[in-house]
Amino acid sequence: MYDINQVRADFPILSRQVYDKPLVYLDNGATTQKPLCVLDAMRAEYLNVNSNVHRGVHWMSQQATELHEAARETVRKFINAKSTTEIVFTRGTTEGLNLVASSFCDEFMQEGDEVIVSTMEHHSNIVPWQLQARKKGIVLKVIPMTDKGELIMDEFEKLITPKTKLVSVMHVSNVLGTVNPVEDIIRIAHEHDIPVMVDGAQSTPHFKVDVQALDCDFFVFSGHKIYGPTGIGVLYGKEEWLDKLPPYQGGGEMIDHVSFENTTFERPPLKFEAGTPDYVASHGLAVALDYVSALGMDAIYAHEQELTRYCTERFQEIEGMHIFGQSDHKDAVVSFLVGDIHHMDMGTLLDRLGIAVRTGHHCAQPLMDRLGILGTVRASFGLYNTKEEVDILVEGIKRVSKMF
Ligand code: PMP
Repeated sequence: MYDINQVRADFPILSRQVYDKPLVYLDNGATTQKPLCVLDAMRAEYLNVNSNVHRGVHWMSQQATELHEAARETVRKFINAKSTTEIVFTRGTTEGLNLVASSFCDEFMQEGDEVIVSTMEHHSNIVPWQLQARKKGIVLKVIPMTDKGELIMDEFEKLITPKTKLVSVMHVSNVLGTVNPVEDIIRIAHEHDIPVMVDGAQSTPHFKVDVQALDCDFFVFSGHKIYGPTGIGVLYGKEEWLDKLPPYQGGGEMIDHVSFENTTFERPPLKFEAGTPDYVASHGLAVALDYVSALGMDAIYAHEQELTRYCTERFQEIEGMHIFGQSDHKDAVVSFLVGDIHHMDMGTLLDRLGIAVRTGHHCAQPLMDRLGILGTVRASFGLYNTKEEVDILVEGIKRVSKMF
């Protein structure tokens, strides 16, 4: 286990005060704070070698290109992809999901073809498919879940038909914390020759992900949720799929040769990276991945599991507490409501105590409909949170509850 005080010192923002109270930051599911090494690395790149990548013959451009391509290798190693050609830099999870939805539908789907998602998806794994449905008439099918917040696997199998062309599911729910059985989903889908995309926005920050062991066909995540900068994310795609998919956007970097009559494209990953990439953010992401790797994903997992367990246990003391998401396979997220206190009221009053939580539908309105609620309060943990912070949260909720 790492030294939590030493780790917290790497994140100066955690020592700040809000409303004269020490900040208790429990909104890591939305975004994480950045360690000094990430901020320093990005500043150093802008200070010393800033130059556009890939097309320069001059020294600084080559240095910037080396950092950008080294970042691709760091990402490859982090998720254990076979090759860097399988690592596409995006703006984030949302862009990765949109890219695959658009390119996959263009190439492989006809009117009436089906995509399977789940009840608990983030809007970013629903709306891109609906945009395609409007254009092409594809059909969205939905894996239901139990009241505990677990996907019903028998129902998943029943949804598969000869028209099913892709399954796209989240690894970990940003609301319920449920760790979905993506290994089983992938195995079953592959038995029917159906590829699977996994939304790893909420899994990569919390435990070791191995895309080859999972055998997923596409995997997406965001840099900012794993202690890296905003504006950078990753789409992993098996080489055979990335080779077959058409480009998502056109522009510089992604072409082989352009004429007004005909244009040929680069090979993946550049085929999917039109325009100047955020090459400083890619470097920042690599430094963040090195940072969490040095702490150890297993140590981070164990620490956050303990926080989740402790928080769930202490919540039992609170009258009227209802926790959404009761799966035994649960990760770093505790969503709740207390009595009939509105989630916004709870969040706003906790904020006045210096406690940052998220409230609302968490970009999962269909899941809220399934749960029969408008929103929840969500505490989500990161590698730097402590049991003392959970205690402050519990005392804060008790204090707010007394006001109603
Ligand atoms: N999927 C899940 C499960 C998420 O939690 C989020 C972010 N809340 C996203 C997708 C979208 O990520 P981003 O906004 O970084 O693109």
